[in-house]
Formats: sequence, C-alpha cells, structure tokens
Amino acid sequence: MQPLRVCIVSSEVAPLAKTGGLADVSAALAGELHRRGHDVRLVMPLYRRMREAGRPFRDVPGLIDREMSFGPRRGRWSVRATPLPGKDLDVLCVDVPELYDRDGIYTQDDDEHLRFGLLSRVCLALCQESGWAPDILHLNDWHVGPAALYLRLLASWDTLFAKTRSVLTIHNIGYQGVFASDVVHDLGLDDAVHKLHQEDLAAGRVNFLKTGILYADALTTVSRTYAREIQTEEYGMGLDGMLRKRADRLVGIVNGIDDEIWNPSVDPHIARKFSLDTLDDKRFDRAALLSDLGLAPDPKGPVLGIVSRLVAQKGFDLLFDVLPEMLPFHDVRLAVLGSGEPKLEEFFAGLQARFPGKVCFYRGYNDPLSHRIEAGADAFLMPSRYEPCGLNQMYSLAYGTIPVVRNTGGLADTVTLFDRRTGEGTGVVFDHSEPGAMRWALLYLLELWGDRDAWTRMQRNAMAQDWSWRKQTGLYEALYRKLLEMPVASH
Ligand code: ADP
Repeated sequence: MQPLRVCIVSSEVAPLAKTGGLADVSAALAGELHRRGHDVRLVMPLYRRMREAGRPFRDVPGLIDREMSFGPRRGRWSVRATPLPGKDLDVLCVDVPELYDRDGIYTQDDDEHLRFGLLSRVCLALCQESGWAPDILHLNDWHVGPAALYLRLLASWDTLFAKTRSVLTIHNIGYQGVFASDVVHDLGLDDAVHKLHQEDLAAGRVNFLKTGILYADALTTVSRTYAREIQTEEYGMGLDGMLRKRADRLVGIVNGIDDEIWNPSVDPHIARKFSLDTLDDKRFDRAALLSDLGLAPDPKGPVLGIVSRLVAQKGFDLLFDVLPEMLPFHDVRLAVLGSGEPKLEEFFAGLQARFPGKVCFYRGYNDPLSHRIEAGADAFLMPSRYEPCGLNQMYSLAYGTIPVVRNTGGLADTVTLFDRRTGEGTGVVFDHSEPGAMRWALLYLLELWGDRDAWTRMQRNAMAQDWSWRKQTGLYEALYRKLLEMPVASH
C-alpha cells in the first residue's frame, strides 16, 4: 500500500522533553510509522533544556530564519533537526528563542497562548515552505488544537492542503488550554472569530482544545473506555456535550508501549534481565531495588511500586487510611517515585518516616529508577480516579509486576481481574473510587500472593500480553486511511 505522509505535532517528545505519557506516545508512534515506511515529520518546540542537554542540532535547509506574520507580530522562526534516539528518525524542532528558550516546557507566563499558538501555525508553515503536502496532520492535546482551525483556513486557498485530513488525539481532557478571549488577536484569528466557540467568546474565553475538537476531521483518545467516559458529564470536564455531537468521529485507541525500551529482556537500567522463560531471575531485581532504596531485604509479602505524577487524578488519597492500617501488620515494602501536590508528597514522606525500612519515597523524576521499580516490584499501584490510557500498568504487565488498578479508562481496557477458579486475568481491578474498594484490592492481592501457583500464573498471563506499538500502530494506520477516503467533516 502507498506510504502516507504524516505530520505529527506535539509539545512533548520523549526523551527530548517529557512530563508525561504524551511524550512517550508521540515518539513511539512516529518511530513505528517511520519504521513501516511512512513519510513522517515529527514537530515540537526547541526548548532550552534540549540545548542544555547537549543534543546535536542541524539546520534544515530552506527552513532557517523564515519570516512570518502572526497576529500583530512579525517574527522569525527556524527549524532544526535532531535525531530521535533509537528511532532512525529526526525530530523537527521549531526554534523561536523568545518563546521557547525558557526554563520549563510549560510556563505560567503571560504569553503561553503564543508559545503553543505559534507551534500550531508553524507546523503548517513548514509544510508550505518545503512544499510537502501531508496526508494526515496528527495533533496532540490542547497545545496544538488551533492547528485544526488553521488547517481549515489555509486549505481554503492553499491547494497544498487540499487532501490533508486532521486528527486530534486527546491524551487528557483535564487540560484544555483556556485563555482570555483577547488572545484571539495575538493568534491572528480576528477574521475567523466567528469560527471559534461562540459561548466561550461571550464568556470572555478561548479554549484551545475545544477549537481542535470543533475542526479536526477525526478525534481520538487513548483508550476505548476513555472515549466512552469523556462523553459523560462525570468525566467530560465540560466538553461531554461537544464530544457527544461528534461521537461519529471519535474513537479510542489504546496507546502502545515501546518494547525496545520497556522490555525486561533488554532493559539496560535493571540489575538482571529476565523474560517469561527466566522469570525466576526477577528476584535479583527485587533484591537490588530494596538495597538501592535502603529498604529491609527479603520481605515475606510483596514489594509494591508506584511511579507517578502525584496529582489528585491518580487517586492516591485512597491509600491515606489503608496503608497506615496495613503496614504494621504485613511484611511488605513500598517504593514510591514521583512528585507533585504537597498533600500527596507529605503523605508518602510521612509513611517513610513512620515505617523506615518498609517504605521509601523518592521525591523527583528519575527514569532509570522507574525501570528498576517496574522490574523489582511484585505489584504496582494505580488507583486512578480517571486514567485516559496509563502506561505504567502496561509496563508492569511486561515486567510480570501485577497491576492493581481502578476500573477506568485505559486501565479497564488493559488489565483484567485475576480469577482463581479459571486462572485467567492479569491483575487486580477494583470498581469504585472509595477507600473500601482499595482495601479490598490490596487484601485480594495479598491473598493471591499467598497462593504461589496463582501468582505465577497471573504473572505469566501478564507477560504474555502484547501492548506494543507494533500492534497498536496498525489501528492508527487504518484510521488514517479511512479518513482519507472521507470528505472533510462539516460543521
Ligand atoms: P500521565 O501522562 O498522566 O503522567 P502515563 O501513565 O500515561 O501518565 O505516563 C506517565 C509516564 O511518565 C510513564 O512513562 C512514567 O513512567 C513516567 N513517570 C511519571 N512520573 C515519573 C517519575 N517521577 N520518574 C520517572 N518517570 C516518571
């Protein structure tokens, strides 16, 4: 079949700039599409941290020092390419130092709308400047929502985009990019004001994600369950009505995992590599993790792991009562890696102080340690209130580390409750965001731990799952091809 020209635009690409799963997804999907022979351009901003990390940048001929009017401003942009590690693909980095040469990926600065509004416009300008007509413009999250509208506006006169179809992937509907309506001028949308969401404008707001939802030809989100959930008031964060109206264009595709990076048989970060055939070797990773973190060796119970942003979404408040209750009576260990809201950090720091040798809280971001926790833990906790897809439960499955998850979003699509009668299932799944349900899940986990045959069976079921991008990319390819046969969505 004819290869496709796909332009993927994202505010984060791993490992160049990452705060969450979005970065992993953009890198892995782009890499896999490229490996399959598609002509892929992966576009992101050139942040200060990427220069500071000493990455090599190469000027892209024809895309240096280009001039562009954007709203009331006239400025220059360049594109510099840098290799995407391990992928044989370059990332195209939009270099506008006055916007991106700052400490953070995201900022609280007054011109945050410009930083991502410009990315939304330049991703199309770079196609125009190089005469490259994308079949698919694949946009990710609120940051580049406006690009779906810019595409419509440009396509009305520039035949380069006559066949281009846009896809907007919602990775987390909790983040929408809401700004005061006077940014319309800065975004160069004065003449297209009637195309923006009118009720929002009347209320003095512009919502980047809504703009994308209105104009993208297809909407995707990162699991089937989340695609259903965001059409409900409970999970839709105010956008459920709009999404219901576009339900015929919305599909859920579970993210894949990059199994060259998250694979215990090749992982360079872990103490001892292992696979389904050498599962017994996982105990070396367990011992190494406990020793690394200064935890007491050889517990009789399981080692529990957490790697996460510590934010309300992740549901760790469900542990507030149950862990202090259980820890004195069970010889378990808990390794927590993450940072975020003070209340959650204080909770885990407090547990460590109260149960030294049993609990370790590593505050911060640490990629190698996240691999060592996945490899060394026996079980992994993700009690999320909502979870669009979640990656760590899939990493856990691959490492034979039993996920304990709430029945929501991508967690519901990827983990199934282990049934001792049938020997089927890959983890522990609980339904309600309530401490009682969390307690049940942990007690069931301990019960399974006490039954070695059941535990090993569950581990083997987990490791036999294939959630790799190799598999999941096919679903995006099918969507792209279907979209190219359909007319532009009308509004
Ligand atoms: P989200 O995007 O909501 O943060 P995901 O589960 O989709 O959640 O992706 C989180 C990604 O970030 C995973 O790859 C996880 O390993 C990584 N991660 C989160 N916190 C940390 C941390 N403190 N140190 C290292 N990696 C982390």
